Amino acid sequence: MTDQPPPSPAGSPFDDLAVTVQLAEPLAKHTWLGVGGVTQYFCEPVSVDSLSAVVSRCNETGIKLRVIGGGSNVLVPSDGIEAMVIRLSAPPFCGVEVDGQSVRVGAGAKLVHLVSAAVQEGLSGLEDLVGIPGTVGGGLVGNAAAHGCNLGQRVHSVTVMLPDGTTEDRLRDDIAFASSWSSLDGVIVLSARFDLDEDDPERLTKRMQKQWIVERSEQPSGTRSVAMMFKDPVGTTAESLIAQAGCRDLCIGSASIYPSCANYVVTAVGCPSSDVQQLVEKVRGIVREKLGVELAPRIRVW
Ligand SMILES: Cc1cc2nc3c(=O)[nH]c(=O)nc-3n(C[C@H](O)[C@H](O)[C@H](O)COP(=O)(O)OP(=O)(O)OC[C@H]3O[C@@H](n4cnc5c(N)ncnc54)[C@H](O)[C@@H]3O)c2cc1C
Repeated sequence: MTDQPPPSPAGSPFDDLAVTVQLAEPLAKHTWLGVGGVTQYFCEPVSVDSLSAVVSRCNETGIKLRVIGGGSNVLVPSDGIEAMVIRLSAPPFCGVEVDGQSVRVGAGAKLVHLVSAAVQEGLSGLEDLVGIPGTVGGGLVGNAAAHGCNLGQRVHSVTVMLPDGTTEDRLRDDIAFASSWSSLDGVIVLSARFDLDEDDPERLTKRMQKQWIVERSEQPSGTRSVAMMFKDPVGTTAESLIAQAGCRDLCIGSASIYPSCANYVVTAVGCPSSDVQQLVEKVRGIVREKLGVELAPRIRVW
């Protein structure tokens, strides 16, 4: 008996690697918005070695590589993408280990799991981020933030994979974090270590629960088919500008603004990605014209 994965469908450049590669995988089911077409190749590697083999094969053959985390911040075009999409869902990429005041976590772990594991161990510093959807990897790449706290603030180091399949540890001082951005774009985040403060677990749990309720009240409820459209400009929120510009009731085709949380776009079943993109551009244009502010899109269009 061997625990080798079943072979990939014939004809892909990954056939000789011991990895399972799906062809024409629909990406809508991997994103919050639930829209978009297929990716040419899709893989959920079971180890760092198999990930490395896929990544270096993409590098050698010129195949574009994308990583999908929780899919809460990507928009996939309706006609799909020609790329290898990797999802770090296997156990070696999703662990959370606490050691004293330090937490090491895999990039594929959900951010909420990292926060709750830290709180359970009486470690504070991340609890304000509890309501943000997605993974630690996605959160680090876009420096996820809420209520004045951002994920980059507590990073000690991040382990990344480079396009040639080799890995590297980057210390906090070698990584730049800014609003909704980090210098980790362009590499694959494998894991990270966070340094946190000791606190009373009971008090932290209460604080985390309060944050969860606050964050939920600021997000669309009753649907997962949503995405946050814009970054908050310095000193104000995208939501207030969108409301001031009178865009709350806008819709294009099957994509509309979520009226009570105006920085979110919500999609109906069967919505083409172009409706979402056009709506984002329309809102951006109206805010620019009426208020003279250039909103920067938050959602990443593949
Ligand atoms: C309802 C809702 C509420 C939200 N609230 C907030 C909020 O309060 N604050 C906030 O900051 N954001 C918020 N967001 C936006 C989004 O959740 C965050 O940006 C989140 O951190 C994205 O993580 P993800 O795993 O879903 O990333 P994905 O959407 O899967 O990917 C985002 C980007 O990161 C890249 N990426 C993902 N994983 C890796 C990896 N391991 N290595 C390299 N690149 C990777 C992807 O290629 C892509 O470019 C919200 C979104 C929704 C839908």
